[in-house]
Amino acid sequence: MKKLTSTAGNPIGSNQDSLTAGERGPVLMQDYYLIEKLAHQNRERIPERVVHAKGSGAHGVLTITHDISKYTKADIFSKVGKKTPMFIRFSTVAGEKGAADAERDVRGFALKFYTQEGSWDLVGNNTPVFFIADPYKFPDFIHTQKRDPKTNMRWSTGMWDFWSLTPESLHQTTILFSDRGLPTNFRHINGYGSHTYSFINKDNERFWVKFHFKTNQGIETMTNAEAAEVIGKDRESSQRDLYESIEKGDFPSWSMEIQIMTEEQAKTHRDNPFDLTKVWKHDEYPMIKVGTLELNRNPNNYFNEVEQASFSPSNIVPGIGLSPDKMLQARAFSYPDAHRYRVGTHYESLPINRPLNEVANYHADGSMNHADITQKAEVNYEPNSFGGPVEDTKYNEPSLEIEGDVDRYDRTEDNDHYSQPRDLFNLMNDDQKAQLFSNIAEAMQGVPEKIVQRQLALYELVSPEYASGVRKALG
Ligand code: NDP
Repeated sequence: MKKLTSTAGNPIGSNQDSLTAGERGPVLMQDYYLIEKLAHQNRERIPERVVHAKGSGAHGVLTITHDISKYTKADIFSKVGKKTPMFIRFSTVAGEKGAADAERDVRGFALKFYTQEGSWDLVGNNTPVFFIADPYKFPDFIHTQKRDPKTNMRWSTGMWDFWSLTPESLHQTTILFSDRGLPTNFRHINGYGSHTYSFINKDNERFWVKFHFKTNQGIETMTNAEAAEVIGKDRESSQRDLYESIEKGDFPSWSMEIQIMTEEQAKTHRDNPFDLTKVWKHDEYPMIKVGTLELNRNPNNYFNEVEQASFSPSNIVPGIGLSPDKMLQARAFSYPDAHRYRVGTHYESLPINRPLNEVANYHADGSMNHADITQKAEVNYEPNSFGGPVEDTKYNEPSLEIEGDVDRYDRTEDNDHYSQPRDLFNLMNDDQKAQLFSNIAEAMQGVPEKIVQRQLALYELVSPEYASGVRKALG
């Protein structure tokens, strides 16, 4: 039998009975293992993620099936047949850690690829777009998705007030209230990198890229009524489905595909190609096959691997870069900032976050530093004469031409918020349109008339059929 010990490795004589002064007397302070046990319990939780708090994770592998090396020198795509281990975390966005899985919400689709050149994180959703395109709006938007500060209840008036005053949200809300806004589980959703990223090839040419992961299980969705039934019986329906599928060897998979836009095309593209509320149309920027993502192993420990998994769009590898997308720029700051706060300064050295390759830099000390993994150099400054790690200019990206004046641009150039939701609406069959109308009407219950009318005016700009359908469903 394994010996029970304290955290210092001291063997423990009792794990059942407190050390007391007499059989009926008080507990002694010197019962240090009792104190350690209670103190540890107080520290079992780390702060919940402000968004994407409820999640499920799995390990898997990305296998490259098609050669895209003319667009990128990234090692992960360097040859057909190459396999890269990865970890995924699926999530809902608004619900807290104890929320039910089967809620109408966007689903997070966060990927960490453990490449030979460091971790590459693609932190996306099951939607190709987002509610807003400027990070200034992000904290306010999220406040509307969370609880009202006075009543502590989810508050549809706040949501519709914000959306009706933010027409750029129309595209994403049309997806959210469509059939796809309530997936049956995580295996039956597509994933999208959503943002525009960049690829850099071995000739130092830059391409703009969008990432897509199409589910091989097929899209499956639920109506609100079906979801209510599920939630009544099982609050962990997506976690259960994912865990049990993998456990029985039924490994879910996705086809990884990309869209490519050249720098020249970007200059004449009809919209801002870095606008997170817009897609690139498939017929203009066709999908290019890349590989297959398969999930094949459940985490051993939920807290260690899923709760502490820390993804950031700033984790990029040579051959992959960011773009001028304002939301992406902000996320590259706010994600690592969140992890330093909720997991700790050295969150990247935890096994689930640790890259495969050696980490070498001059960041010094900090809470929970352990030199075998983090700071290894013998000196903690650079330049030095002692063989410490050095930079290599070959990893610098080609320069990016920027034009225009420093200013705050309120989307005057880029304000067609209606064409793409219209394209989506026109794709829907009668049944999908009916679901859209009734889902919106249901979500608008109790919202003041003034706000409802303002939102109906936006639907009118997308399509009179959209507005009249919602109006009718509202009765
Ligand atoms: P396409 O006809 O080439 O593609 C339509 C896309 O819409 C398909 O990827 C389809 O996914 C997806 N789709 C179908 N129903 C829904 C729904 N309820 N919610 C979200 N996505 C859905 O058209 P375009 O490329 O010209 O785009 C037209 C519209 O389709 C866009 O305005 C956008 O709203 C939506 N869309 C476009 C994407 C893109 O990257 N171009 C990606 C996803 C959506 P599937 O093939 O899996 O059925």
